[in-house]
This record gives sequence, structure tokens and C-alpha cells, in this order.
Amino acid sequence: MAKLWLLSTGLVCLAWIINENISPKKPPFVNWDASLYFTHDSEEGLWLLPNVSLGYPEPGTLYPSNILLPTTKEEIVHMVKSALVPTSNDVRAIDRRHKIKVIGSGHSWSRVAVSDDLQMSLNNYKGLVSINRELHQVTVRGGTTFNELNRILDDNGLAMSVLGSISEQTVAGAISTGTHGTGITFGNYASMVTRLELVTGKGDILFLSANENPEIFKAAGVSIGLLGVISEVTFQCEPAFNLREVLYNMKLSDCLKEMADTAQRSEHVKWWVEIHSDVCAVFEINRTTEAPRDNPNHQVETILNYGFENICNIVSWIPSSTHAMFKLMFTYLVPTPPHDRVDKSYLVFNIPHYFPIHYEGEIVVSVEDCPATVMEVHRLVHEEGLLLNYVVEVRVVKGDDMWLSPNYQRDSCHLTMCIYNPTIKRRLNYYKKLYEAVAKFNPRFHWGKYFDLTPADMEKMYPRFKDFLKIRSQLDPSGLFLNEQLAGTFGLKHLL
Ligand SMILES: Cc1cc2nc3c(=O)[nH]c(=O)nc-3n(C[C@H](O)[C@H](O)[C@H](O)COP(=O)(O)OP(=O)(O)OC[C@H]3O[C@@H](n4cnc5c(N)ncnc54)[C@H](O)[C@@H]3O)c2cc1C
Repeated sequence: MAKLWLLSTGLVCLAWIINENISPKKPPFVNWDASLYFTHDSEEGLWLLPNVSLGYPEPGTLYPSNILLPTTKEEIVHMVKSALVPTSNDVRAIDRRHKIKVIGSGHSWSRVAVSDDLQMSLNNYKGLVSINRELHQVTVRGGTTFNELNRILDDNGLAMSVLGSISEQTVAGAISTGTHGTGITFGNYASMVTRLELVTGKGDILFLSANENPEIFKAAGVSIGLLGVISEVTFQCEPAFNLREVLYNMKLSDCLKEMADTAQRSEHVKWWVEIHSDVCAVFEINRTTEAPRDNPNHQVETILNYGFENICNIVSWIPSSTHAMFKLMFTYLVPTPPHDRVDKSYLVFNIPHYFPIHYEGEIVVSVEDCPATVMEVHRLVHEEGLLLNYVVEVRVVKGDDMWLSPNYQRDSCHLTMCIYNPTIKRRLNYYKKLYEAVAKFNPRFHWGKYFDLTPADMEKMYPRFKDFLKIRSQLDPSGLFLNEQLAGTFGLKHLL
């Protein structure tokens, strides 16, 4: 009996220790709407808050103390102004003001959207504001997702000129990180914005466009939430159109030789480079007047459904098998005959299939340096054992004039560098090695993916960095919209 009692007490203690030390701490505050961020959509699976839900919660993952869910513009202003007033109830120092970080759909792998204080979500502030059918412009509230926007546009005979791989992001969140699709004559999402409405860190409402506060407009286009809460966005769209996507495989060496021509020839093109087997899947996407048609043999579906995730799983547990397994899969298992499909534009831009959960970083170099950068990755994998256990996605984006855009004044090539199921140590080593090796190509980095930048790096990469800092200090003097990662990157730790 005594033994049984001892055993059960021991088990209870063990359960308590595990619960205290391993399971994430629940936030201590009321009004925490965990379901907003932690629900797991079994169909979509992947499209959740990466920092806490994509399978790699980091030690010290931030939990907001409270979530703000405004339903009107007036409430956004009120919440911002209230956060500026230090309160005696504040659990921290009495003279300490709050911080607010706005989160969109939480799809950034970097920590630009997370907060350990007030997390504002515009989940209750979304939807259509107005449509100008003559100019093909649409204005929506900041919390609208692209899935919602695509439907609004479709119902009105309009479409976005280009989209990325998914449409789960919010419009405000996606423009804030420089999210993009592909096409050498197509800029990123922020470059399709004609007007923004911003609630600043002082609680003022500003309208920004090429004619209203034009300098602030260029600073705010890609601003990672640092200048205020983007409450409304106007996009330049165009009449709805269909796209035809043709997908075929090539040898990597031929693919790199033809890269510049392919980018010119097709409106939209992306390459999935499989470095281990030297095979490259090329997606050429162009407008068509053909009607949508199904293609059940779509190659991406085959890759994803019948093998890719299993291969990723095996190699993540046995890293030494990576090269052999990927070579096997991409040399023998992936079907080679070209496929094509035709559909409404947004259904072709977005990848229509479940994709195994992974972690991403993204290198942005000039279009001219693209083949050499791919070959540098090739060298790292083959000669230095870089643990690449995914395909490398390569896309092209037209240059723009937004001060913190990774595409600032440069037609760019983006290399999306993924890693599947990494330990934190493995992931950090991977990006360190990779980013050091490509430093000679003067890279910039996607704001929504892994980056580790200092103010000195920022000054080198972004010629208008200091001007951005000036505008930031005017619009948000108390650093209301800062968090740990952004304060470090922008040299503003004194404002935390
Ligand atoms: C599966 C997957 C696929 C992806 N595909 C692509 C792709 O094809 N192309 C690409 O370029 N990127 C891609 N990304 C990256 C993604 O598009 C960006 O990280 C994007 O910013 C996420 O949008 P979000 O709404 O989730 O914003 P969040 O990640 O929540 O926030 C991003 C930034 O925006 C700020 N922000 C959010 N809302 C507001 C607001 N209302 N006002 C002011 N600031 C705000 C946040 O504070 C934060 O700094 C992908 C990510 C995932 C997980």
C-alpha cells in the first residue's frame, strides 16, 4: 500500500514538474483569446502562427499579456492613446508604458509580429471599404486576408496582378514585410498599394499616398509595423484574368543558363531547385483566354502527396541520408513529362496543396547575381555539408522605391531557403553559415523570414535607413510599436 502511495505521489510530482517546465506557460491575464492563434485547422494544417504553432516553439517564445481586438477605427485610436498612458496597475515599473505589436495572420517566421505586452489583432476589423471600378482600385480594412480580398475582387470582376504562394496573410501584414509573388515586371504587394491609412504612435490618423505625405508613404510601404497601425489599404488591381501554368523539369546547369531569358519570356516564373540531384522544376505562368481546366496529374500534387513529406521526415531524423534520399526522390520519383493547368489567376498564383511544415529564410540578391548565388548554395551543400533538406524556391521581383523594401531600387531574385524539422541549434547554424557565404552578393533579407541584422547592416543595405528612423521617431516617439527583435535591428533598445 505504502509503495503504491509512494508511486502515485511520485507520478503526480513528475507530472507537475513536466507541466511546469515543458508545457508553455499560460498567460496570466484575462481576455486572452488563445483560440484566435492556437486553433489548428486540420485541412490547412500549416497556415498558423509560425512562432508558436508551426512546430518550432523557441525557448522564450513570447506570450502577449493581453490581446486587443478593435472593431472600429475609433477603437484603434482609443487603444493606442490608452497604451501611451502609464498606469499604476501595470505589472512592471509604474512609469513604464505599454508596447503594442499588431499581428496579422501570424505567418512571419521572424519575430517581427510577436509581443510580450499588448498584441493587437485586426481580426475584427476587416472587409471591404470601397471599390472604384473605373480605376480598378479597392480599399479594404487592414485585417482583411488575401483569401477574403480575392473573393471580393472575383465577385467584382477584378483581381490582384500578382500573388505569392498562399493568401492566408492579412493585407496589412503582407505589405509590411515586403511579401511578394514572382515576375520580373511585377513588384511586391506594397508596390501595388496606392493609399494607406495609418494610426500613428501618437494616436493621429494619417493618409498616405503619392500625393498625401509622399515621403512617409515611401517609408510606410514596407515598415514592419513600426510606424503605426495600418487601418486601411487601397490596392491597384486589374480586370480578372486566367493564367496558364506550365511545369517542367530541367538540369540545374541548363536552368541557370536560361534563367535570365526565362524570366523575360514569361510573365511569372519560379524555379524549385533541388540541389542534391541538380534537378530544377520550372513553373512558367502566363495569361490566357482559355477557360479553366483540371489537371489531375499536376506534378506538385504528386511530389507533395506521394513522397516529399516522408522523405523530409526520414532525412530530418537521419541527416546523413539527406543527399541520397533527395537524389533518389528527384531523380527517379518525380514524374518528368511537363504538366499544365489553367485557372483563375489567384488559384494559379497560390500553391493549391498542403505543404509540409518547415522553417524559412529568404535571401534577396540582384537578378544578375542569381545564378552565382544558387551555385554558392550548391557549393555549401556539396562541399561543406550544409544541411539542406528541402527544395530552394527561386523567384524574381521588380525593384521599387520603398525605403525598407528588400527590392529597393533593385530588380531582385529571391531564394527561399527552407529547413525541415530543425532543432533550434541546427536552424541557427544553417542560416549563419548560409548568410555568411552569400554576403559577397550584397543580400537583403525577407522581413517575414529568418533574419539577424544590426543597425550597421541596415545602414549598408538600405540607403534611406536614417531617413526612416527620423520618420519613425516623429510618428512613434515613445517606441510603442517596438518589440525585442525590431528594437535590436533598428538600434532602439533604449526605447524598450
Ligand atoms: C506558408 C507560408 C507561405 C508564405 N509564402 C510567401 C510568399 O509566397 N511570398 C512572400 O513574400 N512571403 C511569404 N510568406 C511570408 C508571409 O507572407 C509574411 O511573413 C507576411 O508578412 C505574413 O502576413 P501576416 O498577415 O501573417 O503578418 P504577420 O506575420 O502577423 O505580421 C507581419 C508584420 O506586419 C505587421 N503588421 C501586421 N498587421 C499590421 C497592421 N494592421 N498595421 C501595421 N503593422 C502590421 C506586424 O507587426 C509584423 O511586423 C509565407 C509565409 C508562410 C507561413
